Amino acid sequence: MLALVDGNNFYVSCERVFDPRLEGIPVGVLSNNDGCFVARSAELKALGVKMGQPAFQIRDLLRRHQVRVLSSNYALYGDMSQRVGAVLGRFAPRIEGYSIDESFLDLSDLGADAPVALGREIRATVRRWTGIPTCVGIGPTKTLAKLANRVAKKVPGLAGVCDLCDPETRARILADFPAADVWGIGPALSRKLAGVGIRTAADLAAMPRTQARQLLAVTGARIVAELQGESCIALELAPPAKQATAVTRSFGEVVTAWPDMAAAVGSFAARAAEKIRAEGSLSASLTVFMQTSPFRKDPQYAVGFTATLPPTDDTLTLVSHAVRIARGLWRDGIRFAKAGVILQDLSPAAEYAGDLFSPPRRGSVELMASIDAINARYGRGTISPAVAGGGRRGWRLKSQTCSPAYTTKLADVPRVRT
Ligand SMILES: [Mg+2]
Repeated sequence: MLALVDGNNFYVSCERVFDPRLEGIPVGVLSNNDGCFVARSAELKALGVKMGQPAFQIRDLLRRHQVRVLSSNYALYGDMSQRVGAVLGRFAPRIEGYSIDESFLDLSDLGADAPVALGREIRATVRRWTGIPTCVGIGPTKTLAKLANRVAKKVPGLAGVCDLCDPETRARILADFPAADVWGIGPALSRKLAGVGIRTAADLAAMPRTQARQLLAVTGARIVAELQGESCIALELAPPAKQATAVTRSFGEVVTAWPDMAAAVGSFAARAAEKIRAEGSLSASLTVFMQTSPFRKDPQYAVGFTATLPPTDDTLTLVSHAVRIARGLWRDGIRFAKAGVILQDLSPAAEYAGDLFSPPRRGSVELMASIDAINARYGRGTISPAVAGGGRRGWRLKSQTCSPAYTTKLADVPRVRT
């Protein structure tokens, strides 16, 4: 038995925890660079604003309804996600963190004879301890738990918990659920299904296996089996090791001066180094790329270069390589809109042996640990290589209405007066 616990309008809910004035009014959170809506409160959904809609297209509507539009605050959302995960860990030892706001919990060994009551308790505890509202979907497979969660979100009478373990309830609910909304059925599969008259999840679940395999291939056949209650998609308890770590950004303003590009690439490399250290990896391959915007009438230019290095996670080494590569790619007179740093060929730092000619890691390890500790305590970028702090700030992301880092930066922690 699996439960999917999913935060409701997660980014908006994180913002509301620390700013209760956002309750009950339309609130939206924008993507990087303040472009498109990536989270909408129920009130904003009711105004017809779609997921992924660019904010500039609906400026009048936003003004008319006094919509609160916020820049994304990933420091806050990431930290709140960890807090929710920690609460869930008290209920079930086997958990897969599926996305920033969704976790699968394995309830099978917990002897839960009343799964709905357990779901209610999980939900109430997460709400009380973190402030985040969630819904809980319960089922014998991941696909059914996902589907149950959607139903829990949509049907107010269920009070946030839907259990599809009972075959009769399941049959009734699947008959009402559009096949196109089943987890893993994209627009292409859903067109194929409509072509053979399959409209509901119940139709899909009733599909003979051979037909499913012919029409929908292996992935689709697995979805059909999962809807029938046969578990085919296992819980991923440890995230698979990453093959690469990328830090890439579209600039807030085009970059036309080398010091600005050096600052951007330097800070991307520093951030990428921090990320692989957090994962315990070393990188032996560094790519830097930069490009113009295909949406502008500027002369187009896109370049990249990859260098191999001795395995390292040292910020100073990676930043100096990245800036040197960027210098080689740089052309005066080009209006750059985007750049990035990608670290590849990752290996576990714990297994690093090196050879006779490898630079020693001692010293670097302690220095990097100190930098990470200071930045974790006082906020990202408190200590960074000088090059990353140079240039004008124009390349930085537009983030005009970002809330404070309430939980991850000492200066931003809310004060309470009594
Ligand atoms: Mg969600």
